[in-house]
Amino acid sequence: MADQYTFRNPVTAYERISPPKQHQPEPGLDAELTPTADLGEDSYRGSGRLEGRKAIVTGADSGIGAATAIAFAREGADVVLSYLPEEEEDAARIAGIIKAAGRKAVQAPGDLKDAGTCRELVETALAELGGLDILVNNAGKQVAQEEFTDISDEQFDHTLKTNVYAMFWLTKAAVPHLPAGATIINTTSIQAYSPSPTLVDYATTKASINNFTKGLAQQLAPKGIRVNAVAPGPIWTPLQVSSGQPKEELPEFGQSTPLGRAGQPAELAPAYVFLASAESSYVVGETLNVNGGSPTP
Ligand code: NAD
Ligand code: MG
Repeated sequence: MADQYTFRNPVTAYERISPPKQHQPEPGLDAELTPTADLGEDSYRGSGRLEGRKAIVTGADSGIGAATAIAFAREGADVVLSYLPEEEEDAARIAGIIKAAGRKAVQAPGDLKDAGTCRELVETALAELGGLDILVNNAGKQVAQEEFTDISDEQFDHTLKTNVYAMFWLTKAAVPHLPAGATIINTTSIQAYSPSPTLVDYATTKASINNFTKGLAQQLAPKGIRVNAVAPGPIWTPLQVSSGQPKEELPEFGQSTPLGRAGQPAELAPAYVFLASAESSYVVGETLNVNGGSPTP
């Protein structure tokens, strides 16, 4: 079986998918995604890069967060999995994969639009893992609207709460407990610099996450805490079929990138592992673009 180190052509390493038009109610499930996304379940090979580390990953039930949680566990970390209660099925599967890797998986369902839930999540990590040294802010809400005036006040509020406020609340609760050497990794997007006309609210949050990352990174660097971001391009996840994209665009999803295909969550996990691990000790306030070749500033 190939793993992430196998020498391969990146054009053909993963299938050039053409997903059928489909819709799931938010937040969507990996279990119902067609075709199935590759989370690295069968391919990610750990080599002790995060031995003994203690992580929170938000949105860890599916997509990029799930692939990251699997990789972290196989690299030796214990993981608190944050997700919405509706996603229990996906979360239980990922927890099982983490336990099979011999690591601790703590399931922590809850709505991060609530500040108290964010603070409790940090408390859960401290109590269940005995500390915290990796925080991955990855949960996200993305709902496409053809017309700007169709973005309801509620959608705008929920998108900002999920993508920006939760990152603020979680980071604020975590920082007092983070030891020197700890890392915070935020998930931004190519949308931060190339906003789609249908994603005005979402793209606004992603630019904000990039900026938050670069400002906070300078403040926390002297304490030995590194803050960085990962900016995915088009990645095949439930976000895309739960109103994240106009349905008629799904069959061509990701095909306009230089690699000519959508990315799989499994291809994102190594970026998070790199930024979490001490091997990136001099990388601070960076945005690592994992987007199939689309130019970035
Ligand atoms: P995903 O649907 O698998 O993950 C998003 C997760 O966010 C959900 O699983 C859910 O658990 C969590 N979430 C949403 N609202 C929440 C809430 N109120 N409380 C708690 N959790 C909540 O999709 P994904 O694509 O893996 O998304 C992960 C991150 O990647 C998001 O921040 C997204 O914006 C970002 N991203 C994705 C793409 C892409 O093409 N898929 C591109 C760029 C950035
Ligand atoms: Mg999910």
